[in-house]
Amino acid sequence: MDDTIAVIGGGWAGCAAAVELARRGHRVALFEAAPVLGGRARRVMRDGLALDNGQHLLLGAYAETLALADLLRRPSDGPAWSASPLALRPLSRDQGNALSLTAHSLPAPFGLALGLLTASGLSVTERLAALRWFARHRRGGYRVSPSATVSTLLQELPRRVRAHLWDPLCLAALNTPPARASAQVFANVLQAAFDTDAAAARVVLPRIDLADALPGPATRWLTARGHAVHTATNARIRGIGPEGIDIDAHGRRMRMRAAVVAVAPHQLPGAFDRTVADASPAIATALRDTARLGYEPITTVYLGYAAAPGLPRGLVRLDDAPGHWIFDRSDILARAATVNDPGRPRVLWAVVISAGGPHGDLGHPALVRAIDAQLRRSIGSLPAPCWSQVIEEKRATYACVPGLPRLRCGHLEGRVYVAGDYTYDAFPATLEAAVRSGLAAARALADDLNRGCAAAAAARDSTRAP
Ligand SMILES: Cc1cc2nc3c(=O)[nH]c(=O)nc-3n(C[C@H](O)[C@H](O)[C@H](O)COP(=O)(O)OP(=O)(O)OC[C@H]3O[C@@H](n4cnc5c(N)ncnc54)[C@H](O)[C@@H]3O)c2cc1C
Repeated sequence: MDDTIAVIGGGWAGCAAAVELARRGHRVALFEAAPVLGGRARRVMRDGLALDNGQHLLLGAYAETLALADLLRRPSDGPAWSASPLALRPLSRDQGNALSLTAHSLPAPFGLALGLLTASGLSVTERLAALRWFARHRRGGYRVSPSATVSTLLQELPRRVRAHLWDPLCLAALNTPPARASAQVFANVLQAAFDTDAAAARVVLPRIDLADALPGPATRWLTARGHAVHTATNARIRGIGPEGIDIDAHGRRMRMRAAVVAVAPHQLPGAFDRTVADASPAIATALRDTARLGYEPITTVYLGYAAAPGLPRGLVRLDDAPGHWIFDRSDILARAATVNDPGRPRVLWAVVISAGGPHGDLGHPALVRAIDAQLRRSIGSLPAPCWSQVIEEKRATYACVPGLPRLRCGHLEGRVYVAGDYTYDAFPATLEAAVRSGLAAARALADDLNRGCAAAAAARDSTRAP
């Protein structure tokens, strides 16, 4: 038997699992079906520009992702992330949902409290109602009914507090509309962001493309230490036995000591041969539970301009018709080798639309026109975009609804373990959930192997003649 542990899936969960196993002294082979690592957080090349497949942002509370990325980067790499206090700004003060709020970097929960008290776009009564509501949930330990939706959680609040503040934050954090989103997961995010430490509510944005933020450094780190990273390689578990795990990859069968399956939920059936799934009640249950998950898309519309006015600083909210948030991604142009091409845009914006909606029925050209019209409502002098791209991820995240059947990260069957954003139920589908699940699965596997070795050694010793 090969002593290697297979990690199937090279998204951020698989990268985290592979690195953690390697750090604990195990030999690892990482298999990724796509030509590049990264999964749902990856680089996409369009017209020579290295775009992200969607704007990703983290909260300061998402500490495991930041710690792993730091571990993998070389001192010469320079900073990968920029962090700033969470500041919500409208693109235009005239838009119906204009709210301006900054969660200050103060010991929790004073950062949010001060932010609410000084917010503009809400009346004093509304701000006090928001504060009282937050304080009440804080006193309750952020425990809410497991069947409650975010809309139920917010129903006592004035309409504008819901519509201008918590509804958009729910949609951004859970990628699920408040009417269907899990109140408990939303409460977990509120607690992590606003009630842990002063840095937790900071917004952390990658300063480089997503591939360079973690998957690229993970590949470099693993291969430099003699571990194998196979891209464009579909891997499938063909057998689970006491001797090891049989895996088909590269058109051949190999026997591994153990495996971590870190694929997206809809990809789980493809990671197991039918006979393996039929023979294992645990795998059959896992497949049945994940088959019940629904999915939500995220659409990113990149618009390039020869020139454009600066955006407000912070997280810039649109009027939701149809775009939700806008980001200045001119950093992508600055990194492009052909930036001096006179035809290239000089300013690049990314407009993000979370979850599904009527925009899903528009073709890409019509969606670009709709976003252009939306931006012109706020910025009358905006020139026409000279370049555009639409990236629609149809299964960006699972729909984070209450009462989901959950496959939990860790042990599944024999020496097969699972990871992936959907297996970490405290947080919604995020990079942090993916990374935490990968670390947890790797630690459980390494601990079980250690215990197994210790038990085997004890059994050996007890059979030795005195
Ligand atoms: C557009 C968009 C925007 C997002 N915005 C944010 C954000 O702002 N903040 C945030 O925290 N999160 C965000 N997310 C969510 C985040 O990207 C995901 O939660 C995270 O990337 C999931 O990682 P994962 O490793 O669990 O799964 P995945 O990234 O899906 O990785 C699974 C990998 O397994 C591979 N695979 C599948 N089957 C096999 C097989 N049989 N053999 C080998 N390989 C296989 C797949 O190719 C894939 O690469 C966003 C997602 C999208 C799509």
